[in-house]
Order: sequence, then C-alpha cells, then structure tokens
Amino acid sequence: MTTTVQHLIGGEWTGDPVRDRHNPARPGEVAVRAPAGDESTVDAAISAAEDARRAWAATPAPARGAILLDAAELLRSRHETVAADLVREEGKTLAEARGEVRRAIDVLRYFGAHGWQRTGDVFPSSTPDTSVFTRPEPLGVVGLITPWNFPIAIPAWKLAPALVSGNSVVLKPAELTPVSATHLAAALVESGLPAGVLNIVHGKGSVVGAALAADQRVRALSFTGSTEVGLRLHQTLSARRARVQLEMGGKNAYLVLDDADPAVAARTVAAGAFGLTGQACTATSRVYCTPGVRAAFTEALVKEAERFSPGDGLAEGTTIGPVVSAAQLDTDLSAIERACEQGASVATGGKADGLFLSATVLTDVAHDHDVARNEVFGPVVAVIQVDDYDEGLALVNDSPYGLTAGLCTRDLTLAHHFAAHAEAGVVKINRPTTGLDLNVPFGGVKCSSSNTFREQGPTATDFYTWSKTIYVG
Ligand code: NAD
Repeated sequence: MTTTVQHLIGGEWTGDPVRDRHNPARPGEVAVRAPAGDESTVDAAISAAEDARRAWAATPAPARGAILLDAAELLRSRHETVAADLVREEGKTLAEARGEVRRAIDVLRYFGAHGWQRTGDVFPSSTPDTSVFTRPEPLGVVGLITPWNFPIAIPAWKLAPALVSGNSVVLKPAELTPVSATHLAAALVESGLPAGVLNIVHGKGSVVGAALAADQRVRALSFTGSTEVGLRLHQTLSARRARVQLEMGGKNAYLVLDDADPAVAARTVAAGAFGLTGQACTATSRVYCTPGVRAAFTEALVKEAERFSPGDGLAEGTTIGPVVSAAQLDTDLSAIERACEQGASVATGGKADGLFLSATVLTDVAHDHDVARNEVFGPVVAVIQVDDYDEGLALVNDSPYGLTAGLCTRDLTLAHHFAAHAEAGVVKINRPTTGLDLNVPFGGVKCSSSNTFREQGPTATDFYTWSKTIYVG
C-alpha cells in the first residue's frame, strides 16, 4: 500500500518521487513516496503563485468560498480513504484520524461560508456627501509551513483563511507526512481552484522551507512547528519586513487540587497526555498536585495510562498509535532516562516495542528536572507535588512556554483566579488541555507563539489581509 505524491506547481502535478516514508506501525511498509524539492522547485512554485494572485484576488469572495465548500464535500466523500492514509503516514489511531479529517472538512466549510460574510467597517465622515469604509485586501503570495502531527487539519486551518481572503499560496508540508496535505489540495483543485493559486513543494525544511521563507515575493509566512525552527524563521521574515505567524512548542501544565475527584482528574489528564500518542502541541506533559490528592490521583492516572493499548492505528482495539519516527522515539526514551538519572521513578510505561511506546507516568519529579522543563512530544507525563494552589500556579507559569494550561477543582473562585492568571493562550478548567473548537481563536504566549495573530475562529483571516481605507465623494 504505497501512495505516491508529487509537487503541485501552476496546476500541474510534477516531480519524481524519490523519498520513501515508512509506516511507523509497520517499518517494512513504504507508506509514501514523495519528491524532494530544492530552491529551483520553490522558485517555480512562487512564480506560479505570483502569476495567479491578481486574478484570484479579483474573484468575488463568495466564489472563492464556494470552491472551499465544494472541496469540503469532495473530502467528505473520500473521508475513509484519507483517514486510512493519514494513519499509515503518521501513525495516530483510525478514530483520531477520522476526527482530524472531519476537522479539516469543517474548517473548509467554516471559511467557505466566510466568503459571504461582512468584512470591513463603515465610518461617518467629517466631509459632507462622503462615505468612508475599510476593505480587507489580500497580501499576495503567502507561504505555509506545517508539521507532521496534524497533517491535514493544520494545512486546512492555514489554507482556508488564506484562500478565502484572496491570497495565492505555496504550502510546504512536513517531510514525514506529505499525503494528507495532497488529499486536501486535490479536493481543492478538483473543485475548481484555478491553476497557481495553490502550490505545494515537498522536501526538507532546511532546503524548501528555508527557500520559501527567504524569498522576497512571499509577503507572509505562517509556520507551525518547533520553537527552534520558528524563532529562526522569525529572524528571516523580520529582516525583510514580511508578516510572520508562528505556532510553536509547549510544555503544558495541569494543576490538580485537593478538592478534585482523583478519578475524574486522572481521566482528564490521561486524555490530554496520551491521546494522539502525546504528540499534540497542546498535550499535557507536567502535572502539579497538592498533597491531599497526589497519591490517589497518581494511582488513578497509572490505571488510566495502562488502559491505553499500543498498536497499529488501523487495527481494532488500538487506543494509542506508534510514535512518528525512530528519532522521536529516541527523544522520548532519552527524556525518560534523563528523568530517572535526576531522581524520577517510572510508575508505568517507559518501554518501547518497535515504535510503540507505552503511556508513561513519571513520579518523584521535581520542577527543575529537565523532563518538567523541556518539551518531550510523546506519551510521557511527569507528576510533581506542590504545597498549595499558589505554589502550583507559580510553577505552572514558570516555563518559557505558554500554550495551554489546565486546572482540576470544584472551587469556582480558584477556577476564575486560574483562568485570569495562568500564562497560557488557552486555559481549560476540568477539561483536557487538548481539543479545541474550530470557531475560537487559538495560539499561545511566550515561546509558544509569535503572539500577534491568532489562528482559527473569526479573526483567523486578519493575518492574511491588510485593511485599506476608502473615501468616496
Ligand atoms: P519542525 O519545526 O521540525 O518542522 C515543522 C515544519 O518546518 C516542517 O515542515 C519542516 O520541514 C519545516 N522546517 C524544518 N526546518 C526548517 C527550516 N530551517 N526552515 C524552514 N522550515 C523548516 O517541527 P515538527 O517536528 O514537524 O513538529 C513538532 C513541533 O511542532 C513540536 O515542537 C510541536 O509542539 C509543534 N507544534 C505546535 C503547534 C501549535 O499550534 N503551537 C501545533 C502542532 C505542532
């Protein structure tokens, strides 16, 4: 079952597939064969986007939106194929993959309908018989660089607002997961997206991504991925005064208070820590507990963790898929080993069979241990004791990251206090740190986000437009 993908440039599928991506659940199976672009491929894609951008910007917004709505229907008709391909290239379970494909469809619908919505404002003028209004204008050619962990949802939630706003796009999907984005692009092309409006270049980030970021014709870049790469891109884009949107890493914390039901808290934390194999930017990775709940919570969390059954995402009964790659497994296992060297104990998990790492709970962790400070990006959660709510809140905030944070309590006053004072872009009270509605803004603070423009929700198109003020007398 090998799927072959190609670049999409100026409406043509092109490029010799030379790079193999193996199914993380079945290392002997080549899941995908993809081409490896270089600077000249990126140049061709940007030229195609440049040629297409004026006609697309002049296309009425409802007509642009209609293409997104048609693409949503096409993707819906291919839902099962796309979800299975996603499992084979990335590894999450079929249920998780179905949910992700459904999210991509809903995102296309949401922004497709946006084509009909009112945008801009009307103002009173001090000059008689004059109307003044603003109009959002597309930026031109925009670049999108996406990670492997949500290989169709993240491209969808960048592409849809970019396209409906009238921009042309060059998308660079993650090397590990080129198929899902190709399904998305194919649905758009078959729904009538004009040639050159969407271009895709596959290949290495350090070659294709870097060339896309450096090109003067790319007026804005939206990136999701690691903080290390994001901060480098920030320098490149800022130096040439182009707009940049960065969604980066996290070290998401949960605080469990004495008044919480330990079983409910454990279910909530386990869903956030081990769902999606812990490979979500919003995954819970450190849990602070007050003394009265720590033992009962830890015991319940271990039971929850042991309920996760590792296996091939396509197999019946699998509730946690493999980690995405051998390199990621190395990172996860090294983090566990280092935690143990620093004094932590493995309460459950910590072992891998192939790329299947069992859900891992670490106890006896201190806040200054590496595993409580650095992003792991796997199914590994550290439990840390704190004296009280105040210390817990202080330690939740004592991190260079600020993507999501959660609190488990029945105390409404503390819930509101936490919501107001947690330094995170998204705060969840009695809900897992993962899982977000598509109609609300999403982003982080500190090293998790560039913090200027939010993705998703009603303001997502702001990044992709500038506001023109018009007087008509
Ligand atoms: P990554 O930074 O290695 O890669 C992300 C993308 O950037 C890929 O397409 C890659 O090819 C490209 N890239 C790599 N080097 C580049 C360079 N020098 N120039 C330009 N592009 C380059 O991240 P990843 O391993 O794919 O994804 C995991 C990371 O993504 C984690 O840190 C996770 O927290 C983060 N993430 C964040 C969010 C969010 O919304 N905040 C969502 C998902 C993932």
